[in-house]
Amino acid sequence: MTPAEIAALLSFAAAFDRRTLGEADVLAWHTVLGDVTFDAAKAAVTAHYAVETRWIMPADIRQHVLKTRADTAADIQGPGLPPEIPDADPDDVPAYLAAVREQRHRAADGLKPRPVKELLAGIGRQIPNQNPNEVAAVRRPGPLGITCPNCRAPIGRPCRTGSGRERAPHENRETAALQPRTEETA
Ligand SMILES: [Zn+2]
Repeated sequence: MTPAEIAALLSFAAAFDRRTLGEADVLAWHTVLGDVTFDAAKAAVTAHYAVETRWIMPADIRQHVLKTRADTAADIQGPGLPPEIPDADPDDVPAYLAAVREQRHRAADGLKPRPVKELLAGIGRQIPNQNPNEVAAVRRPGPLGITCPNCRAPIGRPCRTGSGRERAPHENRETAALQPRTEETA
């Protein structure tokens, strides 16, 4: 919020509690709530005076905004709810992580999932250059953490050893996974 928006917010609060306002109040509130949007803060004031008689303080607004963000995110991606499918190729790790991150932010902001049209537009686009550090950060231990030297199954994918449900990795892959990691030839 800008100082002008803080002043508007305080006037809105004053309509409920009849507080008197000065420039010092605006400055003090701006110090605490400069990063909160006017709409979110106004919603917090409304929610406060729906259930409280004591004067609202900046901390009340911060807490309300944080709780609202957490609640909204939980509504979209909470326990027992199916997560949205991120709009990215799972083999393209950096893009996939970016999509999940973006999705969580949208959820916390109370925005709807991206429309299908937008998702379809992502099909067939160029895969961005992989950042090796980001790939390394999500690398998992065990045979699936490396490309199989036998069947060239990529990282994270089971070996091509048959169609059964439990596809055991090639022995070479298990042995290779135990070696200290140097450079990966994927
Ligand atoms: Zn294999």
